[in-house]
Amino acid sequence: MRPATQAVHAGRPPHEPDQPFNTPITMASTYVAGGELEYGRYTNPTWTAFETALGALEGGRCLAFSSGLAAVATILDLVGNGEKVVAPRHSYTGTVMQLGDLELRERVTPVLVDITDLDAVVAACADASLVWLESPTNPAMEVADIPAITRAAHEAGAYVVVDNTFATPVLQRPLEHGVDLVLHSATKYISGHSDVLMGAIVTGSDELHAVLKGRRDLVGAIPGTFEAWLALRGLRTLPLRVEKAQANAQELVRRLGERADVLEVRYPGLGGMISIVLESGDRADVVQHATHLWVYATSLGGVESTLERRRRWKAEAATIPDGLLRLSVGIEDVEDLWEDLAQALDAPGS
Ligand SMILES: *Cc1c(COP(=O)(O)O)cnc(C)c1O
Repeated sequence: MRPATQAVHAGRPPHEPDQPFNTPITMASTYVAGGELEYGRYTNPTWTAFETALGALEGGRCLAFSSGLAAVATILDLVGNGEKVVAPRHSYTGTVMQLGDLELRERVTPVLVDITDLDAVVAACADASLVWLESPTNPAMEVADIPAITRAAHEAGAYVVVDNTFATPVLQRPLEHGVDLVLHSATKYISGHSDVLMGAIVTGSDELHAVLKGRRDLVGAIPGTFEAWLALRGLRTLPLRVEKAQANAQELVRRLGERADVLEVRYPGLGGMISIVLESGDRADVVQHATHLWVYATSLGGVESTLERRRRWKAEAATIPDGLLRLSVGIEDVEDLWEDLAQALDAPGS
């Protein structure tokens, strides 16, 4: 089945009389013993439906987590004491903060790299035990050469993770390039409606799946049942939403490129995320407050368009320009999006 069909059909109950179309929300902390489920921290039929669907889209076996960062922590927890983790310097701030925290406690040795500098990344892989990729990066929009880095990492005996939150499996399936683990903040495009926090890891390896499931059982970083149900409901329309957001983004990128006051438009050609660089942080602040339709808010990947100046966060890398605005393009009419954005860029004081 092709992705658009998988998104709609994977993880459904069987086509039999009286079966519901959708796996119901199973509210259960425990199950009658003697079967496979046993206890609510180990498994839940609603999670399983979500995991089946996202696993089908990414081409591997999926485990759902309570948030994207819970999934990040679970993977970093597998790194041995003192071992080296290579990661993009412009990874999601929470990922960089977890690496910093682990370094401070002398748990792991992070090496932050410019992910677009292939030679430097390959050199850094040499004695690594984990190579972390995020592509495109949030919010720098840098793209990594996933197949080349994966080959170098595997030669060094390191595992490779790709945070696929921005591209989604609709645009990029890293497991097909030999990547070991794919991570999602399912909070973003996967759920798609700004009403759920959830994470997921997908792997093609039964062994890694078992290890990660063991960690999830042990630490309890599990999603709520209702969240899993909402995330699956969102996932059903993922290809449609990504297609529309991308079409809107491509048109906005074209129009933004014609404005002299937009110094830089960072867009990798695919997807619904755009970063633009304005002359100063002050100017970006004015613009983010001057929109009416675009919502000034953090997070991304919802049906509604949002924007924010990333350096308003203390944790954002100092190498991200002060005047960088990250735009998460939604599925509204592109003319309404453009009119609102253009008037904000023209606003007095901006
Ligand atoms: C938001 C985000 C995360 C963290 O996910 P949460 O669900 O907020 O915990 C990780 N990676 C990327 C790229 C993100 O955008």
